[in-house]
Amino acid sequence: ESVAELVASRLRDIPDFPKPGVLFKDFTPLIADGPALGALVRDIADRYRDRVDVIVGIEARGFILGAAVAYELGLGMVPVRKAGKLPGETLRESYALEYGTAEIEVHNDAFEVGQRVLVIDDVLATGGTAEAACSLVERAGAEVAAIEVVLELAFLDGRSRLGDRTVNAILTV
Ligand code: IMP
Repeated sequence: ESVAELVASRLRDIPDFPKPGVLFKDFTPLIADGPALGALVRDIADRYRDRVDVIVGIEARGFILGAAVAYELGLGMVPVRKAGKLPGETLRESYALEYGTAEIEVHNDAFEVGQRVLVIDDVLATGGTAEAACSLVERAGAEVAAIEVVLELAFLDGRSRLGDRTVNAILTV
């Protein structure tokens, strides 16, 4: 069983969450399965061994995977959080949602200049969240080495918002 098959068989579709008309991909069965979680984390870590200096995890499911991948690589993890959650001085990015805007932040002293960063999240949908996270990393003086997601919703074309940054998805639908 490939890692993509492992992931595909453990994602669950929840209709009408968080609002009517949205088909939500639920990761909880995947991360509840020890061998599947281990295989996923090792698969991601092996792609970036010796190629990155620090991991960024995007709130909230990116924290789970990001921390596990960071541990596997012996690296640290920097959280990118929804606005108002980080205690220190932050950089902030706003981005458009379908209705309204969202804001995310990172501590302004989270990176050393030139550090190579792997940005991790669960789903790439419209790409707004990942793009804002990459902008924060770059404004803070570091470099986005790659963006890694478990699932890419290709019909939303999030990749095109990420310019020429490297994007890898375990599974694309
Ligand atoms: P985007 O900004 O439109 O690319 O949305 C991506 C963000 O929304 C990520 O942080 C995801 O965690 C979350 N997201 C969007 N769709 C789903 C889904 O179907 N399942 C889980 N998370 C989702």
